[in-house]
Amino acid sequence: MESVLDERERTGVPDAILLEDYLSEKVFIDNLKKRYKENLIYTYIGQVVVSVNPYKDLGIYTENHLEKYRNVNFYEVPPHVFAITENAYKAMIAEVADHCILISGESGAGKTEASKQVLRFLAATSLHRREMDRVRDRLLQSNPLLEAFGNAKTNRNDNSSRFGKYMDIEFNFKGDPVGGHILNYLLEKSRVVHQEIGERNFHVFYQLLAGAPSHLLEKLHLERNADSYFYLKQGKSGHVDSISDSGDFEAVQHALATLNFTDEEKESIWGILGAILHLGNVSFKGDDDGLAKVVDETHVNYCSKLLGCESQELLNALTHRTIEARGDVVTSPLHPEQAVYARDALAKSVYERVFDWLVERINQTLHNTEAGRKTLLGILDIYGFEIFDRNGFEQFCINYCNEKLQQVFIELTLRSEQDEYRREGIEWEQVEYFDNKIICDLVEEKHKGIISLLDEECLRPGEATDATFLAKMNSHLAKHKHYFSYDTSVNNKVKKTINKDEFRLRHYAGDVAYRVQGFLDKNNDLLFRDLKEVMTHTSNLILTAVFPKEELGRKKRPDTAATQFKNSLGGLMNILMNKEPSYIRCIKPNDEKRSYHFNEERVSHQVKYLGLMENLRVRRAGFAYRRQYEVFLHRYKSLCPATWPSYKGQAKDGVHSIVKHLKYSPEDYRMGRSKLFIRLPRTLFKTEDALQAR
Ligand code: ADP
Ligand code: MG
Repeated sequence: MESVLDERERTGVPDAILLEDYLSEKVFIDNLKKRYKENLIYTYIGQVVVSVNPYKDLGIYTENHLEKYRNVNFYEVPPHVFAITENAYKAMIAEVADHCILISGESGAGKTEASKQVLRFLAATSLHRREMDRVRDRLLQSNPLLEAFGNAKTNRNDNSSRFGKYMDIEFNFKGDPVGGHILNYLLEKSRVVHQEIGERNFHVFYQLLAGAPSHLLEKLHLERNADSYFYLKQGKSGHVDSISDSGDFEAVQHALATLNFTDEEKESIWGILGAILHLGNVSFKGDDDGLAKVVDETHVNYCSKLLGCESQELLNALTHRTIEARGDVVTSPLHPEQAVYARDALAKSVYERVFDWLVERINQTLHNTEAGRKTLLGILDIYGFEIFDRNGFEQFCINYCNEKLQQVFIELTLRSEQDEYRREGIEWEQVEYFDNKIICDLVEEKHKGIISLLDEECLRPGEATDATFLAKMNSHLAKHKHYFSYDTSVNNKVKKTINKDEFRLRHYAGDVAYRVQGFLDKNNDLLFRDLKEVMTHTSNLILTAVFPKEELGRKKRPDTAATQFKNSLGGLMNILMNKEPSYIRCIKPNDEKRSYHFNEERVSHQVKYLGLMENLRVRRAGFAYRRQYEVFLHRYKSLCPATWPSYKGQAKDGVHSIVKHLKYSPEDYRMGRSKLFIRLPRTLFKTEDALQAR
């Protein structure tokens, strides 16, 4: 028989806290690798679960697994996302406190899969009352619907989420799920009009073409072939092996039915998608004066028919721009490239607003009306840190978001650790860590931060350019320790590594260079007034809701894209800071989507920016293990004559007898108010081995 030690050698330790050399990243990664090779994709760092994407079905999410992880103690079952979910759920009920599960990792690391399993586990907690089934089905069905509209094939992930998502699940005092609410962040809407080679537009377009019955396509004047549409074919990869678009269309239909979408709403949705595809096929040429003329009006006609607006009106709006300045209204014709810009802006804006509408619509269906005490369990599945060869406005926003999440991590994890020691009456020495608040400030501070500077430039149309924005940053931020650019670098060595059109930020997770091209445009996020006006009086049900007439009368400029994002992130921070967090840290073992392939270099990079070693250090600086006296006593009572075979006293006293009997040295443990704290894993190992040897 394999001994406990041999097995530990082969499969590594289930909790990195048990590693003797906890300062060594190599030891940490070796342990992950060992486990990965044995199909053990989950490893803890205390209450954090690290997950390494297996890229294959391991059969670890079956009904049996759902059962196995229910009502068990965290440390008595192998690490699993179910265990961390059960733990959070139980604590939420017991403490009547809101919890959240924060899932992070880079694209393709397994965040969305993890979030789905968490949701599945939680949805399955309900008693089998019919009312609960209804809530559960709706919670679960929100996923395929939002994935259809918000996910796409990218070069990193065939089913990549192109939006951030936070979902609250509401539980009544009995612990049944009774409702939910979704918040969405920063949809990558540029994908509607452009895709890189090897990538696709959002799934739903391909699903519609592949799966819709012929009569629906006829009504929409659409062809089945995705390559007929400019907005769908730029990536040259309409077909994806791992995806069945027609099957997924069925799934979306099912989801729409479960979520009670009316026929009218569905018709409105398909109409809008069809209209966007036609819009993409509208092309422009220059007339004798170089002004934009639509090449073939057929698609404009289809588009206006589907949206329910006047064809001529749309045609005009696509080729003209009206500007109101100091009371004067001036309409001027557009050049072809401006018309393309206007067309694309319309497609993006319509799609984005429809996506927001969908989320709102789902929220209405998930809205809970039951009275009584509620607690929330939130799930955050949001883009991880991104460092590409070329980084633009989107990466800037995403990485800023990760800086903010790091703040949550620092605040909640360190705080809760210290709180626990204080609560339990244990002396504790502060661990040093890098506080990235300085980087958050660099980005978001009023008047001085990058977003403020960017917004200022956006207020100077005609004068400001991406280059003036860069110059402005250079003059304001030159001395900042986390800001670098070609012009502000005095060090020639650094200068050589920065292009003239870039600025570089020293993020907590590493340096990233951003090209300024497109920053102003994307931040302005301009939809010309003429097109907006047409959208406010269509007969399409959803468009009427998402383009309210009042918007036209508004004199105040709408917030810029970056400011909107900043504000919605601020809201998210408030939500998270008031909850007890659990973490799922996802790691992508290789870039080839291959199973059993563990690229140590890639993993090392992620371990660094997920802050896992820091995490481990903080956890280990105090006491590696802590156990409720009752739990410890229950497990180890047979090791001590004072507690075995029978024991009637206080749990704390019983535990005291056990540790005395096992000759724990005074340095190795502390007795808190309700828990035993053990400094080194070795101590617990010996105890566990003694138990096995019996
Ligand atoms: P992310 O949301 O982090 O970008 P996903 O959750 O979409 O990544 O995962 C990418 C792909 O990796 C999935 O489509 C699936 O094929 C595979 N995958 C991720 N997690 C698991 C898992 N736990 N078990 C099996 N396959 C997984
Ligand atoms: Mg995802």
